[in-house]
Formats: sequence, C-alpha cells, structure tokens
Amino acid sequence: LSSLAEREQEQFLLSAESVSLSAGDILCQPESKIRYVYFPARSIISLLSITEDGTSVEVGMTGREGFVGVPVILGYGQMPSWAIATVGGEAIRIGSEELKRLLRHCEVMNSKLLNYTRSLITQISQTVVCNRRHQIEERLCSWLLMVQDRLGKSTLPLTQELIAGRLGTRRPGISMILKKLRKEGIVKASRGSVRVLDRERLKNAACECYAVVRFEDAQNETR
Ligand SMILES: [Zn+2]
Repeated sequence: LSSLAEREQEQFLLSAESVSLSAGDILCQPESKIRYVYFPARSIISLLSITEDGTSVEVGMTGREGFVGVPVILGYGQMPSWAIATVGGEAIRIGSEELKRLLRHCEVMNSKLLNYTRSLITQISQTVVCNRRHQIEERLCSWLLMVQDRLGKSTLPLTQELIAGRLGTRRPGISMILKKLRKEGIVKASRGSVRVLDRERLKNAACECYAVVRFEDAQNETR
C-alpha cells in the first residue's frame, strides 16, 4: 500500500476497513464466493488444503508482503483453498467488487497485485516440492523463518498444535524437533509461542525452500 501513488492510496483507504483477526478465523472456504480481499498488516493468513479425514496442510502463507484473494484479480471469484488466520492481528480488507472497480483505474495497484500473485505462485510451487521432498525438521525451520519475516519480530505466537496443522503432521513430532532446536540454542518454545534465538543457525537448519521464497519476495519488493 505504501508504494502506491497518494491518490491511489487515498481511493483504496476510502473503500477499505481495518479488521482485527484472531488465530483460527476462517476468512474464506473453498468454492465459496470471495466477499473480501485481505491485506494482512500485523497478521498472517494461511491458504490451507484440508482432506476429507480432516488433515490439513498449508499451501501458502501471506503477511504484510501480500494479500489474500488472488482469484478476484484474475477474474474468478472463488478460492481453491481455505483461508484461515494463523497469527491474529490487524488486516485491511476491501470488498471484492470494490477492489475490481478500483483496479480499473489504478494501474500501479494492478501491477503490484499481479507481482505479488507471481510471488505467491512461486511459494505454492515450492511448497509442493517441500511437502514431498524435505524432512519435517528442515521444513519447520523454513516455515518459522517465513513467519518471522512476515511479523518482523522474534517471538512468534504459535502453538505446537497449530504448527503441526500447518505442516500437515502431528504435534508430538513438532514437539520433539522444537526440544532439539532448543538444546541447540536455535529457538525456544514456550506455551503458545516460539522465540527465534539464533536466526542464522535457523537458516542453516532450513531447507532450500526458504531461500527460494525469500529471493522471490525480495525481487517483488524492488519491482
Ligand atoms: Zn523445503
């Protein structure tokens, strides 16, 4: 938003509203109409696939670098996945129809949103590889780094149950890895939060996916 021309910012803010999200809030369900497009400010929203037996796995996450509701700008008004808040906090939302109307007159905003769409496609493609090819410990490290980037702080409000649900695994496995990382002085998990103690070593323990997604996000910031 801050990269938009003043007039575009003004028009956007007039139509948008600030909302406070709580972790677990369901913002959109698969195949249902997208009523609002969300721009997380101090929150994180995950795109999740949930199987018939109730197992969930995250296919993408969005924080302050992007928005949730890509199908709206592609001319298709339904989500292919669930959109659920992973970290509660402030987000800006705007009605889908209102956003489409604004985009007809705001070229810069249009191209910014399309640039983010490209980053998200990279992230989703990388997540497919990650879920299939990488070990849970390195996946967890990549995931924590992505959450940290989006929140800009080292204490991340995450329960182990929530982390397990995002990574498509079970809580005891996550708990064991967090204990190991704690012994190594890399992170410290307490009730309801995970604190990153040594970001450089967390990067070393992460799979290559973190660097791929981070590179794409950084490219996007300069576009
Ligand atoms: Zn990976």
